[in-house]
Amino acid sequence: MGGAEEVFTLIVRAYRVTALFFSVLTGIAYAANAAPGQTTAANSLTQQCQQLGKLLKLRTDSVCAPAANGAISVASSHQQRSIFAVRRGAKLSEPSATRVLILGAVHGDELTAGWLALQWAGFDVPRSPKRDYAVLHVPITNPDGVFETKPSRVNGRGVDLNRNFPTPNWKAESAKWWNEKTKRDPRRFPGNTAASEHETRYVMRVIETFQPTVVVSIHAPLGVLDYDGGGLPPQRIGSIWLDMLGIYPGSLGHYASRIRGVPVLTVELPHAINAVNDTESRKMWRDLFVWIDKYSNLDSQSK
Ligand SMILES: [Zn+2]
Repeated sequence: MGGAEEVFTLIVRAYRVTALFFSVLTGIAYAANAAPGQTTAANSLTQQCQQLGKLLKLRTDSVCAPAANGAISVASSHQQRSIFAVRRGAKLSEPSATRVLILGAVHGDELTAGWLALQWAGFDVPRSPKRDYAVLHVPITNPDGVFETKPSRVNGRGVDLNRNFPTPNWKAESAKWWNEKTKRDPRRFPGNTAASEHETRYVMRVIETFQPTVVVSIHAPLGVLDYDGGGLPPQRIGSIWLDMLGIYPGSLGHYASRIRGVPVLTVELPHAINAVNDTESRKMWRDLFVWIDKYSNLDSQSK
């Protein structure tokens, strides 16, 4: 190596070390700016909550602050909106805890479903002498659908998330269902492949990692309870009664119960734009846990 080359190598090295030094500094500065990440995310769920409240013409303060407390951004929609999750109850490290996953607004135009999920996220987890509950709330699963200029059932890429889960024989079944039953209704498009959507894959991932005992998915406006899975479904939650809706290719209920062995209670609220009031919402919350308490007993007895 000649003298000039040596000097050049040293300069390059010095440059690299300096660049690394500055990038570390920048990283620290960035981290320092972003340090209240928790707060930023919670504020954003607060914003989503306030926006939804506005769409429903509701006062938001009593719901949004408690709902968004401790919220974290866990995934991103196709249009780069955050999907937030809120943890309540027992620690995840508690292996004996009964785990409840609650999903709201999988369909974006079912605004009341998102609102009820936000109300529930702000309530205390009911206590049971027999068990601890770890609850994970994902109040607005399809933010692109909810916050479109006109709220839409489908996500930001025009896919019905509740038909996009990889159920048995999805390709043939979902195409047949979409073509024949819906006459190619764009609001019910199942996607070109199963699990093609960010939001679908997030829900699949959370089922895998959180390992819920039961999933509760809130929809509207059919005004019934639907149930997929073993054990006994509840007869009634609040003023909504059980009335099974049947099986759809690509639905979350079909996927979670058949593929993951996790039962899914679908709560269909009676209205998509007239929100459940606070009294009814609390009643539903209590009834839900009374059922889960019993359900878990039945399940453990049957093993
Ligand atoms: Zn729905």
